[in-house]
Amino acid sequence: MMNDDSWRAYSERLVTGDVLAREGYGKGLPVFLPWGIAVIRRLATVFAEEFSRGDTLSVRSPTTLVASDVYDRQVEDFGGYDNIYRVRWAGREYVVRPDCAVDNLAQAMRTPNNGRAGSVLSVFQGFRRLKGPTPPLFRDCAIWPFVQLNRVAACAERQQTVAQIVGSLQQLFHRLCLPVRIVRMGPWKNYSPDLYNVVLVTPFNTPTIVAMFFVVGESYRRMAGVPGGFDAFDVGLTEKILSVLLLCSPGEDGLVLPSSLAPVHVVVATDDGRVPIDDDGSGLIVRVEPLGKKDWWRKWARRGVPVLVEHARGRTRMKTRTGRWREVKPGCAVTDLVLEADAALRAYLAAARDASSLFSVRCESCARGDGLRGEVVPEEDGPCVSCGGPGRLRFITSLATIY
Ligand SMILES: [Zn+2]
Repeated sequence: MMNDDSWRAYSERLVTGDVLAREGYGKGLPVFLPWGIAVIRRLATVFAEEFSRGDTLSVRSPTTLVASDVYDRQVEDFGGYDNIYRVRWAGREYVVRPDCAVDNLAQAMRTPNNGRAGSVLSVFQGFRRLKGPTPPLFRDCAIWPFVQLNRVAACAERQQTVAQIVGSLQQLFHRLCLPVRIVRMGPWKNYSPDLYNVVLVTPFNTPTIVAMFFVVGESYRRMAGVPGGFDAFDVGLTEKILSVLLLCSPGEDGLVLPSSLAPVHVVVATDDGRVPIDDDGSGLIVRVEPLGKKDWWRKWARRGVPVLVEHARGRTRMKTRTGRWREVKPGCAVTDLVLEADAALRAYLAAARDASSLFSVRCESCARGDGLRGEVVPEEDGPCVSCGGPGRLRFITSLATIY
């Protein structure tokens, strides 16, 4: 998907957007700057907010090193991951944490919520050896943040639990301004009897997976101590969300952020000390500075601030990352400006999905012939575009692997 030039341009955007330090990035570990850390923290917070509606969530920050004997016992049934790091330290062998599911599920069983098992969210740094031809988007071997939620629910409530998770993901991706589709993919090796991928179409008309969730497979579930009659769920996303925002963004320079991830929502530059917009008690972060150079706004635009406002010689104008400067009336509400910026970003990103044929309404037999990968949930029905018979929205691609 990315050649050397686009890879360099992509890394440069992370540097000009003040996410990563120029030095230290490359073969080693990326060095995050305060702005980048603030964006990443927002990502984990927004995820936790959406998944804690109607549910009690315990949040933990697990250690990076797991004793090898503990890890090996945890994974003995399913064989373990083949892409982990082992290190020796102070006479003992450790695994550098690749995942949290077993620990999270064990904790969920210990922390009941109104007589039922709870949900446990971990935000941590994960490590995987990366093999194969797919270039890593953001990382060398470190994945940060790795945001992983595990939930235990009665098997009889599986449909309801899946619907809840789908609803939370829809809300989450709406706030991230990423127009995704959630696809039921079916069984996934022995990891899961039922896997769902959250798929985004990039402007290059390629599908990319930005999050996933699944019903945890039998052996894994047993290792975590989840008894029969209960399902275990695993929901996860990573910093890849940021990579995708960068890859799909308009312009060539820096970041574009939805308001849910932006550490600052509006920057106002003013030549007379007046702030011409109404901070309507929304809690949005508005930064005010004296109007300096003509291109004062470029630094903030590169950092991805959703709304830029300039008040000069008694007139006020504003700009979003996806639009041009336009005049605004004095006293307009900050919430309206930020909502406008989010809506514009969402519409921009939706154009690729809407132009793509990766999702189309087909009947099952027509879809099979063209590379059926899964069914979109919640279900969207209609006549098959090939044969006119009863169909539903499906994810169809001949690509062998989807990253
Ligand atoms: Zn058909």
